[in-house]
Amino acid sequence: MDQPSVDSTDSETPPFEGELVPLPYLSADEAVEGREDPFVLVVQNALEFCRWTVAEAPGLQWIQAENLLGEPEVWATAARKGNGVALDVIVSDPATEYSAIYRLVDLRVVRDVRVTIPVLPGFLKALRLAASIQVPVRLLPGTITSGNIAELKEAADYFLHDPSVEVPVEFFHSLFGFARGLNAPDLWIVTESDPDIFESPLASGGPRFVERHMETLDADEAECVKCRWRDFCRGYFKHPDPSFPCDGIKSVFSVIGDAADEMGRDLAGFGDGESPEGV
Ligand code: SF4
Repeated sequence: MDQPSVDSTDSETPPFEGELVPLPYLSADEAVEGREDPFVLVVQNALEFCRWTVAEAPGLQWIQAENLLGEPEVWATAARKGNGVALDVIVSDPATEYSAIYRLVDLRVVRDVRVTIPVLPGFLKALRLAASIQVPVRLLPGTITSGNIAELKEAADYFLHDPSVEVPVEFFHSLFGFARGLNAPDLWIVTESDPDIFESPLASGGPRFVERHMETLDADEAECVKCRWRDFCRGYFKHPDPSFPCDGIKSVFSVIGDAADEMGRDLAGFGDGESPEGV
């Protein structure tokens, strides 16, 4: 298909063409067919979805579909025809909506599809179902609580060790790359919340927001200064509350980091420590 995958999160190559200007996320009322400048379209109902999955708009990078998992007919329609534009399907409440992810099983054959799942109670069931039908996943950590640390660790273990997981599961995928010393995108990019790159509903704070946020945390000698995950996380969990305690999320990061370290040792045991596939 012509459109870039919504799973393209390499920090050196943002998932759109052109210069590093923030990628706008437009509503169906704001967007016009034929637009050539890059944009993401956010659709909120079946009418908007059906119109834009067949529309010609060269600049359309992907469609973010919200509040539509409960409408099976739109997924059946999109699986039969359309413009091939990639889809990012937003799961609002994973505990109640997870079974509806199965409706995407035919869709992924005709266009790139990703599901975005907030880390809320029950998210692991949604993650498992998406992975089982080979649909890439993006987890949105949001505000981590003590109640979902255990589920996140279980999800990390599933990502690392279940042989049925053959698709990227962000943010674990990029975190693993970072822990292996690769040039992985940071957490602000993975979550599309860096306002220098994305003009998305999750990006706020204006130019250089992430840099300014880190400068403030460093000046306050916050926990981030000596954190192993600093260059991947960049203070993500200290916003908006700089006093947020990170013990829990760092223990989740360590599940992935320990696996990356183990892989490094295993590869070193084979000789020069380099994976033939750059893993
Ligand atoms: S995990 Fe916490 S301490 Fe570490 S960089 Fe992120 S916000 Fe800072």
